[in-house]
Amino acid sequence: MPHTADPTLSLAGYYLPVYRPRALVLERGQGARLWDSQGRGYLDFAAGIAVCGLGHNDPDLVAALIAQAGRLWHTSNVFYSEPPLRLAEELARGSRFAERVFLCNSGAEANEAAIKLVRKWAAAQGRGPERRVIVSFRGSFHGRTLAAVTATAQPKYQAGYEPLPGGFRHVDFNDIAQLEAAMAGGDVAAVLVEPVQGEGGVMPAAPGFLQGARALCDRHDALLVLDEIQCGMGRTGTLFAHWQDAVTPDIVTLAKALGGGFPIGALLAGPKAAEVMQFGDHGTTFGGNPLAAAVARVALRKLASAEIAANVAHQEQALRDGLAAIDDELGLFAQTRGRGLMLGAVLRPEYAGRAGEILDRAAEHGLLLLQAGPDVLRFVPPLNITDAELADGLARLRSALRALPR
Ligand code: PLP
Repeated sequence: MPHTADPTLSLAGYYLPVYRPRALVLERGQGARLWDSQGRGYLDFAAGIAVCGLGHNDPDLVAALIAQAGRLWHTSNVFYSEPPLRLAEELARGSRFAERVFLCNSGAEANEAAIKLVRKWAAAQGRGPERRVIVSFRGSFHGRTLAAVTATAQPKYQAGYEPLPGGFRHVDFNDIAQLEAAMAGGDVAAVLVEPVQGEGGVMPAAPGFLQGARALCDRHDALLVLDEIQCGMGRTGTLFAHWQDAVTPDIVTLAKALGGGFPIGALLAGPKAAEVMQFGDHGTTFGGNPLAAAVARVALRKLASAEIAANVAHQEQALRDGLAAIDDELGLFAQTRGRGLMLGAVLRPEYAGRAGEILDRAAEHGLLLLQAGPDVLRFVPPLNITDAELADGLARLRSALRALPR
């Protein structure tokens, strides 16, 4: 389905070429649908990388943004304003574990704050720098700042950025014996883990794995830090993914869907971690911005609702059924895995490495999709996606995959 490229695309040469976006210019969205500058419509199973949990142009988010825009945009953290005060309270209460919240602007910043907090916590206990190790897992993704990318146990994100900061150790995800061995020396201050790995291939924690990690953290006096930046905010069918694993973390980091598309991040700290950072220990100019907080309050309320949880469960089944039907016809997937509306379809060995090409073809057929590495198609549609939108997206996927050269 050829289409005329938007002349605006010629301006892309001004960007630092760190991305390779598909050659279309998106202009407008409504629910789980988007339109480009050429008037072509798309189903959105990418949701701005698991950000637009309520789809596009949600009337309540728009109203919150407009109302706040006419009142107050920014105070920085040398003064209080009401939206971030209320958001912090709502996040702490809603989390069922946190006592204090640090608001920032992105996922990497939330994890950076968590890494600093862990070190400060260990330092306060008299542990020297060599005993402040943070363990994270192969296949993880924690962001692009120097510390977060070092915690990110995927060499491809680190190459060329050496020297990397010290104090990180990587082990295999879902391997409790390896984690136990990595903590045996008594130098570990925290375990940092995504309850469902996103970028690393849509890989959920195995049953009991987070509980095992919690027990090891308790035994070795280490903090359990959960990165729920992608899997949190209702995406897996509960407001927090780890609720399904029945563990209580010490720290949780959030971003992405928290602002429904408006940039915001948060660190939530439980009793062990809440009093560690004191005046002057950390900060950010924009974090807790009233505009972002006003929008996030509404996003949080809606994403925590029973309606969203029910829709996630319902659409997860529809998506799994649809992918199974496509697989019955075309024989493309080795496995579908994930939780809620965070699903990954793993390509069979004969299609390995072709996820990027499939994304191009899906876009040509009017479906925006993500990959999680070269071998996994990642499905993270809006959590309020309707039956008709989901069915339309699956139909487009089927046409795209039918046209895929064997
Ligand atoms: N942590 C996880 C689990 C993520 O998926 C991401 C982004 O994809 C990040 C951290 C980094 O978030 P940001 O891109 O907002 O810095």
